[in-house]
Amino acid sequence: MPSPMGVVRHNWTRSEVEALFALPFNDLLFQAQTVHRQHFNPNEVQVSTLCSIKTGACPEDCAYCPQSARYDTGLEKERLMAIEAVVNEAREAREAGATRFCMGAAWRSPRAKDMDTVLGMVKEVKALGMETCMTLGMLDEQQAQQLAEAGLDYYNHNLDTSPEFYGEIITTRTYEDRLKTLENVRAAGMNVCCGGIVGMGEQEDDRIGLLLQLATMDIHPESVPINQLVRVEGTPLAEQEELDPFDFIRTIAVARIMMPKSHVRLSAGRETMNDQTQSLAFFAGANSIFYGEKLLTTANPEESRDMQLFARLGIEPEKYQVTEEEALSEPTVADQLAAQQFYEAAN
Ligand code: SF4
Repeated sequence: MPSPMGVVRHNWTRSEVEALFALPFNDLLFQAQTVHRQHFNPNEVQVSTLCSIKTGACPEDCAYCPQSARYDTGLEKERLMAIEAVVNEAREAREAGATRFCMGAAWRSPRAKDMDTVLGMVKEVKALGMETCMTLGMLDEQQAQQLAEAGLDYYNHNLDTSPEFYGEIITTRTYEDRLKTLENVRAAGMNVCCGGIVGMGEQEDDRIGLLLQLATMDIHPESVPINQLVRVEGTPLAEQEELDPFDFIRTIAVARIMMPKSHVRLSAGRETMNDQTQSLAFFAGANSIFYGEKLLTTANPEESRDMQLFARLGIEPEKYQVTEEEALSEPTVADQLAAQQFYEAAN
């Protein structure tokens, strides 16, 4: 007997997911929106800000990435930022309404000599009352533990695509390496942010394969970024054929149905989507965006455009979920106020 919709399951089969992808578009969206409403306020979207704390010169060969040292994309390299500069950006992001601050470094994995700086960033951004997230490449058990002890709430490490298509995109680290990092992050008690990219030339089978990997984990990633390829000149995927926007929306909808309690995030690629496509993505169950001028190194829709779209759709930024421990400690719910200001600024 099929399980009722909206129940959190970890035993999805390929044929079930194929059947979801094969649904008529309206039926799929109806299911996704129904599941979405069981677990979330459909008119709230989580707002995060992303800061590139170390840019470019990455030794990895991810075929989509302008930060790889192997591709000539004209990207300006930047060394690891100072803690103070990162905290200033976080404060500005908080004032603009972001409740989560994500810090990304273009590394294969963090070097021992950089760990103290990175841990300092986590502690100080956390002290601003924001949720913290980092993406630093592969982590061993000890590094994951150190980050967790510093107060890191989320670690982002994407699987990118299906295990079968993965070798077409990256050769310098294996799928197993990625799963191992995710395991270390979980073992250290942090939340997982993990998703992938669509539009890299993969088939629907690969989108199914990626979602199966994510939705059959013992605990679903709390955040699932679904990126649309940004075709950056100089990267091997610069000439990749454009993705049909409906295939992108279908992927969002199926992710929502398979991982009903996760935040599904519209990440890279949002700047090339028109307002209608973004709205459809929200209807399909996407409920998290990055807000800010830059999404690591690719352009992000201007902040005001996001605010205007939210206002036109009656969407409000999701309030930061204060934990019991935080509620009992000083300060604050400053982020909630900031979120309110963000919405008011849009009106
Ligand atoms: S995606 Fe990350 S690991 Fe891959 S090249 Fe870019 S910065 Fe490096």
